[in-house]
Amino acid sequence: MNQMPTSKIMRHTAATARRTVLLALGGAAVVIVAVVLERTNFERAQSTAIVRMFEANRAAADILLADEQLTMAANMAVATGEKRWIERYENSLADIGKAIDRAKRLASPSAAKKFDQETRVSNDRLVQLERAAFDAMNKGDVRGARRLLDSGLYAHYKRTLADGSTSYFQSVRSQIHAQLLRLQRRTEVYLPLVIMLCGFGAYYLWYRLNVSLGRLHRAFVRAESTIRQLAMKDALTGLANRRALFFELKNLLERARAQKRKLAVFMIDLDRFKPVNDQYGHLAGDIVLKEVADRLVAALPDAQILARYGGDEFVVVYKLDSDFNADELIARKIIDVLANTMSVEGNDLRVGATLGSAIYPDDASAEEELIAKADLALRRGKSQGSGAAVAYNAYMDIDVDARSQLETELRNAISSGEFVPYFQPVVDMSTGRVRGFEILCRWNHPTRGLLQPSEFIPFAEASHLIGDLTIALLRAACAGARAFPETITLAINIAPRQIQNPALAHGILAVLSETGFAPHRLEVELTETALVCDIAAAKHVIASLKGLGIKVALDDFGTGYSSLCYLSELPIDMIKIDRAFISTMHTREESAKIVIAILGLSKSLQLATIAEGVEGEVDAEFLKANGCIMAQGRFYGMPMPLEEALVVLANGGIAPGHRKVA
Ligand code: C2E
Ligand code: CA
Ligand code: CA
Repeated sequence: MNQMPTSKIMRHTAATARRTVLLALGGAAVVIVAVVLERTNFERAQSTAIVRMFEANRAAADILLADEQLTMAANMAVATGEKRWIERYENSLADIGKAIDRAKRLASPSAAKKFDQETRVSNDRLVQLERAAFDAMNKGDVRGARRLLDSGLYAHYKRTLADGSTSYFQSVRSQIHAQLLRLQRRTEVYLPLVIMLCGFGAYYLWYRLNVSLGRLHRAFVRAESTIRQLAMKDALTGLANRRALFFELKNLLERARAQKRKLAVFMIDLDRFKPVNDQYGHLAGDIVLKEVADRLVAALPDAQILARYGGDEFVVVYKLDSDFNADELIARKIIDVLANTMSVEGNDLRVGATLGSAIYPDDASAEEELIAKADLALRRGKSQGSGAAVAYNAYMDIDVDARSQLETELRNAISSGEFVPYFQPVVDMSTGRVRGFEILCRWNHPTRGLLQPSEFIPFAEASHLIGDLTIALLRAACAGARAFPETITLAINIAPRQIQNPALAHGILAVLSETGFAPHRLEVELTETALVCDIAAAKHVIASLKGLGIKVALDDFGTGYSSLCYLSELPIDMIKIDRAFISTMHTREESAKIVIAILGLSKSLQLATIAEGVEGEVDAEFLKANGCIMAQGRFYGMPMPLEEALVVLANGGIAPGHRKVA
């Protein structure tokens, strides 16, 4: 029954409803008719009974009256000897006979029989006696006649006749009474019975109707969810469609806002879809789209949304752990999974994809805006060539004029030395002694004041000026570090894009020679993202740097993509445990486990480890207890201008924070 189509259930319910109404009306009519019939029946029976009783009363009275008249006529005839009394007697005789017949008809058969035996017989006897009296009188025996009329026998029959008439009336009356009582009893039982039966019928109908309505409701709910699913699903791939994407993304954003979480939106565009369609036909195109959807579903089980945005564009939404930037990892995974060949109708096709991503709340906070920014990044990726994964940055939003203006501004700032190195102490935790500094860039902007890297590094990267900026910054830092003791090292950050520049090592070497800074005192910090983008180029650059005696550190370790494989493949000297793990070590068990694991790993690989973002003594103690030797962070000192770094070194090279607790 559950599988019955909705239309059939609707028809069934409508029929049940119609039947219920008709039967309810029918039931009501039956009750009304039954009540009316019963009532009229009873009233008619009652009035008939009254009439009968009235007639019986009259008949009894008539009998008695006629008897009196007969007796009187007989007595008068005997007393006067006049014939006319006999004539009157004879005339009245018919009356009593008629009255007796009438009374008999009104009585029940048994009562009539008894009445016949008593009253009629008494009457007959009286008539015989009276006639005998008349005979005697006619013969002149007045005395004899008188004797007959005064005899005890005569009086006996008269009494019997009177008693018979009275008991006749009483028997008729009680008979009528019993009949009415029977009728009343019947009504008392019959009517409630009819009403009760109708009630049962009504309950049954109500029950049936309810069952039907319940079934209909369930069918509607089922149909509604099917319709909703159909309306929210892309028919070809089974992924969410554009409508569902916006609907679900809106909900996700609301939750992310409440939970203070990050979301990553990836916009994917297939690289060689059009040629597949043109060359192999639309059916092959459909197979490719389905295969893409299947691969995304299989590769991204934790995705919050997987949608087909339209044509050969797909959107993936991921919840990011607030501390770990997993977006690059996911982007890479998507590109890789779609780069593999697809077998379509016997042909091995390489479709590939390009991707753009945007992060909530860093890049945008509304769903349309997020999608638009991911799309913008995608367009940028497309211009870079197929297989690119590009994250949105603010630079992309700037129009061409403003962009060239910003580029000019950046270029001028580089040449006029507006980018200044800030020095963050990296300390030996056991002694608190500064072993070196990480160089972090600040823009001493002529009108906007001191700008943080997040405000200009993405633009410098996007406008390809990051290389010049790094060299200028390194030059300033190395020049400033001339006053540092020989043992103090410097670490410089290298952007992912710079890894692809084969002249990087050469540029750095030029600065080192120019400023007289020994290469073994320099460390270059690379992020895993840089390695992921082009592992071959990375290997080459690292080899060149190492060839010069420069050390290489893997920055933001733990947040990137399959970090371990780089550790074994590349000749890296040290790793820097990302701030995200250190800052959550005490609140997230998982972070503490990761930190301990990284420390164990680096020990076994004989790599130096630097913990970043150490903000308090508790962090430092925990790290020390687990074998960490080097650290940097608020606890030891935030990035500072050269003058302050010189003061720290002049004071014995003990990090400010460490000195405070010591
Ligand atoms: P990073 O390389 O991971 O640098 C560490 C960042 O953490 C610095 O932010 C530093 O100020 C901050 N930091 C250090 N200790 C603590 C701490 O205890 N608590 C907190 N809350 N923060 C701490 P900064 O200077 O804003 O730099 C941000 C990022 O910008 C750097 O992350 C790096 O990726 C990039 N960057 C900075 N300078 C350069 C540069 O010259 N070239 C390139 N390519 N990137 C740079
Ligand atoms: Ca760094
Ligand atoms: Ca870092």
